[in-house]
Amino acid sequence: MIKISDIDNKTLAFKTKEIINKYDFAFKKNFGQNFLIDQFVLDKIVSSADVSKDDIVIEIGPGIGTLTACLAKNAKKVIAVEIDKTLIPILEDTLSNFDNIEIINEDILKVDIKKIAEENKNSKIKVVANLPYYITTPIIMNILENRLPIESITVMIQKEVAYRMEAKPGTKDYGSLSVIVQYFCSPYLVANVPQNCFMPRPNVDSAVIKLTTLEKPPVDVDNLELFYYVVKTAFSQRRKTLLNCIFNAENFKFSKEEIANILNEAGFDVNIRGERLNIEDFAKLTKVIENKL
Ligand code: SAM
Repeated sequence: MIKISDIDNKTLAFKTKEIINKYDFAFKKNFGQNFLIDQFVLDKIVSSADVSKDDIVIEIGPGIGTLTACLAKNAKKVIAVEIDKTLIPILEDTLSNFDNIEIINEDILKVDIKKIAEENKNSKIKVVANLPYYITTPIIMNILENRLPIESITVMIQKEVAYRMEAKPGTKDYGSLSVIVQYFCSPYLVANVPQNCFMPRPNVDSAVIKLTTLEKPPVDVDNLELFYYVVKTAFSQRRKTLLNCIFNAENFKFSKEEIANILNEAGFDVNIRGERLNIEDFAKLTKVIENKL
């Protein structure tokens, strides 16, 4: 029988099967449990996250601790938040050689990340994770929209979502997620990751993306809530013009003539589609609409 604490942490990825057998661990689909078993991908995540001994890393969903161990070797401290209580004894075993890891058994959506950041305000805070895909957007949006003091977010997510986050205007992947993510961050696609790098294999393709938070958004927006609504409205019906999307939006009560005037005032053709607008354009449009409400 293997003694897990004796395993070199570099080999945890290769020992996943042995570890889960030892603990009779059953993967839970509803928690998005697809564990990374490829050391090359783990090293790539850690190097692209640029973790150093000055950094506090918040890891979402450590699983059996494979990525956690790689992070702990490079970071000042890793705070690992895992929802599944059956993984806690495994983590206490696999990570027993480290004294710079704190394991929190909690749902990340209930954790006060702002408080963690305040308690560690003299260090840079980075989020690194192989995310449970079912809550990718709420996790990232919570960090971004609440302007939590996080320097960067380096995460494995579903490939299509990563492509949408970094998409540019006029491309097929460009949408509300692209605009909102790029309002707060500079995205960089680190790598595509094939399904055979996970156990069990997910039925979607994955990618690692690094979102570096901007000190200041690229454009000033006074009414962020209205900005989000305008952006979401613009992409609500992709085949329709921006004019029709605004006309059909539940919270706007403009006539088509009024919308044509709004578009003219913002400097856009009346037949333009939302996918042509960049962040600055959306900010301009929001301002004009705000003045007409
Ligand atoms: N980091 C491990 C790895 O790379 O092998 C596991 C990654 S697995 C894709 C996602 C992990 O997130 C699982 O351990 C799962 O139990 C955990 N998880 C799922 N939902 C969570 C939540 N709401 N809060 C915290 N952890 C969660």
